[in-house]
Amino acid sequence: MKKTETRVKKSSQPKRTSLAFQRCINPDCGATYDITEVHHYCPKCGSLLDADYEWDKLPVPKNLKHFEKYWKERNILQRFSGVWRFQELLPFAPLEKCVSIGEGQTILQQAFGVAPYVGLDPKSLYLQYEGLNPSGSFKDNGMSAGMTHGTLVGAKQAVCASTGNTSASLAIYCAATKLMNCVIFIGDGKIAYGKLSQALDYGARTVQIHGDFDDAMARVQEVSRKLGIYLLNSVNPFRLEGQKTIMFRVLEALRWNVPDWIIVPGGNLGNSSSFGKAFIELHKLGLIKKVPRLAVINASGADTLYRLFEQENLRWNGGRPDKKKINAFFKQMTAEGRHASTIASAIEINRPVNLVKCLRALDFCNGVVRSVSEQEILDAKAQIGASGFGCEPASAASVAGAKKLVEEGVIGKDERVVCVLTGYQLKDPNATVAYHGTNAKFFKEVLGSHGVKSAPFANHPVSVDNDIKKILDLMR
Ligand SMILES: *Cc1c(COP(=O)(O)O)cnc(C)c1O
Ligand SMILES: [Zn+2]
Repeated sequence: MKKTETRVKKSSQPKRTSLAFQRCINPDCGATYDITEVHHYCPKCGSLLDADYEWDKLPVPKNLKHFEKYWKERNILQRFSGVWRFQELLPFAPLEKCVSIGEGQTILQQAFGVAPYVGLDPKSLYLQYEGLNPSGSFKDNGMSAGMTHGTLVGAKQAVCASTGNTSASLAIYCAATKLMNCVIFIGDGKIAYGKLSQALDYGARTVQIHGDFDDAMARVQEVSRKLGIYLLNSVNPFRLEGQKTIMFRVLEALRWNVPDWIIVPGGNLGNSSSFGKAFIELHKLGLIKKVPRLAVINASGADTLYRLFEQENLRWNGGRPDKKKINAFFKQMTAEGRHASTIASAIEINRPVNLVKCLRALDFCNGVVRSVSEQEILDAKAQIGASGFGCEPASAASVAGAKKLVEEGVIGKDERVVCVLTGYQLKDPNATVAYHGTNAKFFKEVLGSHGVKSAPFANHPVSVDNDIKKILDLMR
């Protein structure tokens, strides 16, 4: 693989080239780096980096209604984009340089059909369908921003590790824009076919390593560093900038009113982190007064955040989380040989790279974390599907989590709740067909292996002889 010019430059640059820059999230370090530099972590202390801005020198909108004026500019690609319509809230590249393939045309739907299942009043539950993005998941929001930064620094090759959707997203952006060549790393047999088919179809160089996602993630960072290939996992701070816009669109759909709850599945914790950053910034800029509460939902087979936050009481603590607690946790995980395992493959992650940023989001948004079982995920998924659009298993964790929090009385029946449906239904047809179908062997193979016992909301297909009388009898 050829080297590109994305290697790390010296961090002691005398002058910033832009009002946008990068900042270490560790308050005891706080080092800043130019927008043109490429780092995965802070070179000084190893913490995660944020994209940050000199807001006081930038033309910040006075209110959120400001963005409505762009609705009538939809013939401009970047104004059509559900990400770049909000460019003034992620202003690290000039509008005309922002990469777009039409991402972010997603809707917030009042889900009166699902609300009773969750235990909410019919008008209280909303679903944000991020599966309607070009590659079928919310990842496109972040990828448009990550690709924009990669292009800005002259990258010619991009790489990511993926449970499926990040690779599908990177592959579609590279194929559609021809801005970079694309290499993806996936774990052994851990990828839903809908997602794998996308990466292959879009021509991504696909490397299947013998290990799980956490192994692939570790390796890809090494490869990126050693070969100077631009990394597009969610440790990339610019990807998270793009994902902030999911929340901007939720507010837009609610006529700029802030809901009571945002509920999102947690895997690598990029989405939850970016939502938190979105609300921190909107609040700081005076664009919202109220802050929603955040609930991050783990699958019980990949519940690092749940254990650390809810059971071990790990907190953001002003940017100084208890590192000893974190290290001890992962050390024990290694000692026990514990690997993530869930049918919700998009969140089958035990070592979330954005853990500390997510703690910040939970802190600012008075958040909670829950873990839900495979059965709860699949039953919620069936309820969502029966109300239209549908989603992949990981997405349904948000609704399963909402149900749990209503049952616990943490969420009130009449609170306004937004669940983010992160990926499209056809991403993982096996899970859906196994749940609804009548093939016991297939059920056992796909779902039984994850401990799922039954399918109480199954919509079984019926079979009938090729005989008009029997068919008509069946219809009556
Ligand atoms: C990536 C992904 C997630 C997990 O998001 P994180 O930002 O990694 O926490 C959840 N659902 C779907 C469908 C995904 O593709
Ligand atoms: Zn630092």
